[in-house]
Amino acid sequence: MTGKVFLIGAGPGDPGLITRKAVECIENCDVIVYDYLASPALLSIASRQAQQIYVGKKGGDHTMKQEQINQLIVDKALEGQTVCRLKGGDPYIFGRGGEEAEILKAHDIPFEVVPGITAGIAAPAYAGIPLTHRKMTSTLAFVTGHEDPTKSESSIHWPSLAKGIGTLVFYMGVKQLPGIVSQLLKHGKPKDTPVALVRWGTTTQQQTVTGCLENIVEIVQKAGLRAPAIIVVGEVVSLRAQLDWFEQKPLFGKTIVVTRARRQASDLVRQLNELGAECIECPTIEIVPPDENQPMKQAIENLSTYDWLVFTSVNGVLHFFNQLFEMGKDVRALGHLKLCTIGPVTAQQLMDYGLKTDILPKTYRAESVVQAFEKTNMRDKRVLLPRAKEARTVLPHALREMGAIVDEITAYKTIAVKGHDKEIVSRIHHADIHMVTFTSSSTVNNFCNIFPDSINNYLFKKQVCIASIGPITSETAQKNGLKVSVEAEEYTIPGLVKAIINYWK
Ligand code: SAH
Repeated sequence: MTGKVFLIGAGPGDPGLITRKAVECIENCDVIVYDYLASPALLSIASRQAQQIYVGKKGGDHTMKQEQINQLIVDKALEGQTVCRLKGGDPYIFGRGGEEAEILKAHDIPFEVVPGITAGIAAPAYAGIPLTHRKMTSTLAFVTGHEDPTKSESSIHWPSLAKGIGTLVFYMGVKQLPGIVSQLLKHGKPKDTPVALVRWGTTTQQQTVTGCLENIVEIVQKAGLRAPAIIVVGEVVSLRAQLDWFEQKPLFGKTIVVTRARRQASDLVRQLNELGAECIECPTIEIVPPDENQPMKQAIENLSTYDWLVFTSVNGVLHFFNQLFEMGKDVRALGHLKLCTIGPVTAQQLMDYGLKTDILPKTYRAESVVQAFEKTNMRDKRVLLPRAKEARTVLPHALREMGAIVDEITAYKTIAVKGHDKEIVSRIHHADIHMVTFTSSSTVNNFCNIFPDSINNYLFKKQVCIASIGPITSETAQKNGLKVSVEAEEYTIPGLVKAIINYWK
């Protein structure tokens, strides 16, 4: 049976600007054929079995000719595969999606089109430019800038564009900017008409320059601005002065390395992204079950003999419950227990299992724990403490001081991650970053083991900022020769994010 092809708009760059329908298609397809401008983040939502084929198209450098791309899509569909043809922005706006659809039709291959947010709309929006405005313009044109404006037989009617349209949006026009400007001036567009170029719009690399028809060529040259960019010509560009919002985000333009375990990193990455930062995920640790899970099994078997169950981390909670469920039990086995968690995030994780925390010391410090248990009699109480193999002794020590009988069991262990993406390694080696974040001592130690030379040569000398989640992590960083510039006041991810914002304020 013939497969089906989805011509999908991947949106302009910010992966959040993809449609739900596109996500559904990407998740369920067999093959993804994608372009230079489709955000790499979208590929990660595809199933692992899906084949991913890059067909390039960066300026003139075409990895694959359009005819070859057409053939590829046709072949895959005829093999019976469901194909996602993932194109930057919208597939039918200057993306040759129309031609691909025609070929599919000619081969009787069923297809659907999933529109995307086109760069011509999104990049100006993220640069603070509404393309229409009641007081300024009621007409708008999307124009290709790919064509040489000086060629004698232009398919673009320059006199109409210059005189008849309020806002002009050019795609693929950076190289031809001088020609575009001279055509517009020649046909009567006033020389003080505002112009903006938005490069890599909606991404953390967004760059915007503004001027007017008279000086924009020079301004762009000076800024060294290159493709891909959208050119907006019209009165509405002046609104950017008030309406710019994206480039005003507190961490816009900053590149931050996140060294947490991949499964835990998303929270920090999401928060930093929302604040405008570009995050490089460079996981240095991985959380895995302990080598020996007999002690944990036994403890769960004997749960009825305990009075308290204490968790110090989200991972402790996750691994404990995995084991509990694996043994065919459920949360009712915990019914008689009092629960304690360190920190609000761990408490939330427990709540996800429908369990409320009885005692919640805010931080992992002896005083904090002692204070939280102040009104509780712990004498001869049996406490189960499932935690990391390499965990510190502050908590069991404090509980024992109160007279409790504490059983520490290993719920998980952290191991060093080996092997990293070449591009990430190169960026870290060249200190093409503003900050490295550390959320535990093991992230520091492993990072320093993985990048020993960058510690001495780059991070240290170029003073890439080091941000730490708390004093213990900072101490480990200092022992490794790193100067810590940011330390969270509250030892949580939101606390770290807050400290980072303050640092760059
Ligand atoms: N189908 C795409 C356009 C493809 S043509 C869409 O609907 O957006 C390629 C041109 O799109 C580039 O030369 C550039 O002008 C523009 N473009 C694409 N992504 C862009 C981005 N993130 N920022 C600015 N311009 C972009």
